[in-house]
Amino acid sequence: MMYIIFLGAPGAGKGTQAANVAQELNLVHIASGDLFRQALEQRTELGIQVKSYMEKGMLVPDEITTSMVLERISAPECGPGVILDGFPRNLQQAKALDKALAEPAKSIDKVVYIKVSEEELLNRLSGRWICRNCQTPYHAISSPPKVWGKCDKCGGELYQRPDDTVETVKKRLQVYFAQTAPLIDYYTQAGKLLEIDGEGSVDEVSRRIMTALSRGLFVAE
Ligand code: AMP
Repeated sequence: MMYIIFLGAPGAGKGTQAANVAQELNLVHIASGDLFRQALEQRTELGIQVKSYMEKGMLVPDEITTSMVLERISAPECGPGVILDGFPRNLQQAKALDKALAEPAKSIDKVVYIKVSEEELLNRLSGRWICRNCQTPYHAISSPPKVWGKCDKCGGELYQRPDDTVETVKKRLQVYFAQTAPLIDYYTQAGKLLEIDGEGSVDEVSRRIMTALSRGLFVAE
């Protein structure tokens, strides 16, 4: 059973890299933002509750987020372990997660922190297009799809997230630096942080992550 967290600002490449590593290590990829977007699309009770927070680039309240993620983690298919992407997003969520895992005597194994400069984050988010079906991200300039508007992997329709507008992106980055960045210290102190340079091609970053994880997870420290 393995628990790995992917930490980083919006646009750092968490989603892409978390999906790759989950496939590589046979773990379940849980992305809190994707779960919320699904709920929004399906207009469920949860979707109605979270809509206004997401539109403003604010964090959804902790009780809603934490119970959604903990419920998902405890599903039988998560038996081999999970990669958490976008959760925890603040100290309260991190502590709630530690507490929930401690009861069945489990804990977070490693935290992959993907570091990208603020300038690069803004550039990536403003050109981002995402598959409505499988969530694969593209970039209008640096990684366009083969056929404009269509996903290379599944043929799904590409769209721009409504919270990728300049104003909301600024707000999301502000929220990240104020609330999420303190988790870097929290997991460093716990001896769990693996800092990865997130600039470069997707493959380069993937290789850096796999190397750091194989040292961190599989070699006695
Ligand atoms: P993301 O796809 O990870 O960028 O998340 C999109 C939006 O979903 C965020 O801007 C928040 O409104 C909400 N969200 C996702 N994960 C969390 C979380 N762990 N805590 C609170 N809100 C979240």
